[in-house]
Amino acid sequence: MKRERLDADVLIVGAGPAGLACALHLARLIRSHNSSGAKPELSADNIYVLEKGRELGAHQLSGAVLDPRGLAELVPDFASTAPLDTPVTDDAAYFLTSGGAWKLPITPPPLQNHGNYIISLNKLVKWLGGLAEQAGINIFTQFAGAKLIYEGDGVAGVITEDKGLDKEGRPKDNFTPGYELRAKVTVLAEGPRGSLTKVLVADKKLGGLNPQVYSIGVKELWEAPPGRIAPGWVAHTLGWPLPSSMYGGGWIYGLRDNRVSLGLVTGLEYHDPRFDPHEAFQRFKMHPFVRRILEGGKLVRYGVKTIPVGGWYSMPRTYVDGALIIGDSASFLNSQRLKGIHMAIKSGMLAAETIFEALRAADTSAKTLAEFPRKIEQSWIARELRSVRNFHQSFQHGLWLGLAQTAIQFVTGGRGLVDPMRTRAGHEEYHKLDSARPAPPRFAGDGVLTFDRLTDVYHSGTRHEEDQPCHLHVLDLNICVGRCVTEYGNPCQYFCPAAVYEMVEEKGKRRLKINASNCVHCKGCDIADPYQIIDWVPPEGGGGPNYEGM
Ligand SMILES: Cc1cc2nc3c(=O)[nH]c(=O)nc-3n(C[C@H](O)[C@H](O)[C@H](O)COP(=O)(O)OP(=O)(O)OC[C@H]3O[C@@H](n4cnc5c(N)ncnc54)[C@H](O)[C@@H]3O)c2cc1C
Repeated sequence: MKRERLDADVLIVGAGPAGLACALHLARLIRSHNSSGAKPELSADNIYVLEKGRELGAHQLSGAVLDPRGLAELVPDFASTAPLDTPVTDDAAYFLTSGGAWKLPITPPPLQNHGNYIISLNKLVKWLGGLAEQAGINIFTQFAGAKLIYEGDGVAGVITEDKGLDKEGRPKDNFTPGYELRAKVTVLAEGPRGSLTKVLVADKKLGGLNPQVYSIGVKELWEAPPGRIAPGWVAHTLGWPLPSSMYGGGWIYGLRDNRVSLGLVTGLEYHDPRFDPHEAFQRFKMHPFVRRILEGGKLVRYGVKTIPVGGWYSMPRTYVDGALIIGDSASFLNSQRLKGIHMAIKSGMLAAETIFEALRAADTSAKTLAEFPRKIEQSWIARELRSVRNFHQSFQHGLWLGLAQTAIQFVTGGRGLVDPMRTRAGHEEYHKLDSARPAPPRFAGDGVLTFDRLTDVYHSGTRHEEDQPCHLHVLDLNICVGRCVTEYGNPCQYFCPAAVYEMVEEKGKRRLKINASNCVHCKGCDIADPYQIIDWVPPEGGGGPNYEGM
């Protein structure tokens, strides 16, 4: 296929906080280099950013409590210019039982949030994108990086997705082949479980000591009746509705104008293949402690996204010839604090400094780009991640042992009893189905406080071109209708929070039906499938959720 070719100096895939911080910082470094008269002169017009969302921020979903450390370095006057919703005024941690809520006498240090801000990441990213565009960066929304261009041992750019193919993959009238975007440096800033990052890490064997492990965060944004929640109030919960064998917890944040951000994070390494993270979140809202806040209010938005929680020991090698990996894609997230935005920004800045030096030296080989992990090592990212390097792994045998080990790690600077603590990929943790236990009826919700998955998907603003090839590649459908039925009972029907996967009977035959247009791009299926036969690839650019205000 004949593709149009464009050449860039730097191509950044993903316009999240990591990708945009990288672009903005690099443009500024180049501008001040050029204005000092130093040689060689560099161009900031040749930095491209690709974003698969229909507009900037559309695929941004987070809690979010922002630790402003990274943003303060990127935009020193952020406090007066950034769209911060409200400063945190009070924080608390609760242990929930099925009917009770026990406030911990002191909020554990990782959950203390004074000095932080509650934000909408969607708004913050739109604003950061505006700053990047003012600095001369070319941002292409509705374009996904679909394929890596390899050259020698490294990466020479990406091919964007073909647009205008029908369901069978045949060109329609509006067919446009993807562009061949070549760059001296390609930066993968795709967030959790990046589709290109996954391929690069596997092809070049870049995996870390531990496999990456993930949690899934199901979130709703509500408008509560006045007076139910103070703006700036931050609460985290442990316990109900998750059993103590599972990793996870809830959050409730009070925003301005009676808005409430709430959600439930669940580790994607549970044993029961019929566990349903969407349903667990709905049950969380039915708890009297949560219900009291929401009752009489209304649902504004719904969304889901995965979170890379493996930390320091799951970090892949972050550089090859011509490419770097940053942000969530590189495991720069502190799972103990449920915070990654500050590290995404800082890692983007350190990548920009590495690339700037490489462009000046006209050498973008792995040898030069290896400066990036060295900069990470010397930065506060390494100090913060090292101090929690065994945190997530400690919960492999349940909540209570996990909390005990966390206390020991706290006093030993992250070392704990075993260092490094090893872990397995989450999908290896399923127990085989107990066939005597019938499948539970699907959760319907009451339509007021709790909702079924389709109603929630409607509130995610998700839209896709219907007549396009399915972007959820199931590599062996025979496994779905054979082994998976008896071994695990098709967990895709349960772990997908957007009702994408359905087992249906047609003419006496069982078949997997994929409702790809419901997909909210959480990547949960790519991660949680027990046989690892679901490959999530980007659909036609512009498809997916619209996380306005999330
Ligand atoms: C439920 C939840 C709650 C969280 N709460 C907090 C919190 O309170 N505080 C905090 O600091 N952090 C929180 N985090 C983590 C935080 O959101 C992430 O660490 C941060 O967003 C990572 O930034 P990033 O730029 O690396 O990735 P992302 O923000 O995921 O951005 C990646 C971007 O790349 C785009 N993209 C991906 N693949 C492609 C492709 N192939 N082509 C083109 N575009 C692509 C995506 O559409 C997306 O816009 C939370 C995360 C979740 C899911």
